[in-house]
Amino acid sequence: MNVHNLMEEMVYSGVNELFDTVIESKADWLTCSCEQCRLDTICYVLNRLPPHYIKSGRGLAYAQNEDAIDKMQLVADINRIALEGMKQVLAKKRPNHDQSASLPKTPVFNFPTFVGRILDGCTFEPATNLQVQLLMEGALAECIDSTWSNPFTIDPHTPGTFTFWVKPVSADKPGIRKAFSFEILVNREGFDTIRYYFEIASTSESVIRTAVNTDHSHFLPDLHLFPSGHP
Ligand SMILES: [Zn+2]
Repeated sequence: MNVHNLMEEMVYSGVNELFDTVIESKADWLTCSCEQCRLDTICYVLNRLPPHYIKSGRGLAYAQNEDAIDKMQLVADINRIALEGMKQVLAKKRPNHDQSASLPKTPVFNFPTFVGRILDGCTFEPATNLQVQLLMEGALAECIDSTWSNPFTIDPHTPGTFTFWVKPVSADKPGIRKAFSFEILVNREGFDTIRYYFEIASTSESVIRTAVNTDHSHFLPDLHLFPSGHP
């Protein structure tokens, strides 16, 4: 079943409205209102509220009729935590703040996180100490923020496992279905190059997906690393 977290929509619009209100009031503590600071604030709020999952596609309109949610109380909670989060985010901007402030304007094509494993083809042990690249339409894919990296380095702390989260791509309008081609590329000296191609279809949305949510993970099949010249 496809589900999504209703909180994402409510928090996304709540935080954006809050920024706009504070911009209008010309508060002196408002030092930045860029997309990255807004997203950091959205994450702050989402991490502090329990998720509320609903079936995909039914959305806010449906949920408003649900008795289970005390919507007034929820909006009050979101606003209170959003203001607290916004002040904290602005008080300690990340060192890389300016370079990561380049998320596209909505609507966007969102991507799931990609999760996969590289195994030694002879022993089936998880591989370590190697780099995995993700190509998108033939070029190194950009990640959603600086906490994700491409190439991904598999070190002994994450044996065999790699993850990527691709930065959303601008769309002309919401509701467009489009396929994107990806390639996992592993080059290690003394071993055959791994090239694994796959395609992901995404429907453009009016929100940038922020919370890491396993419902939005795409699991790739295990890939195997063989020594060069292996029969
Ligand atoms: Zn900012």
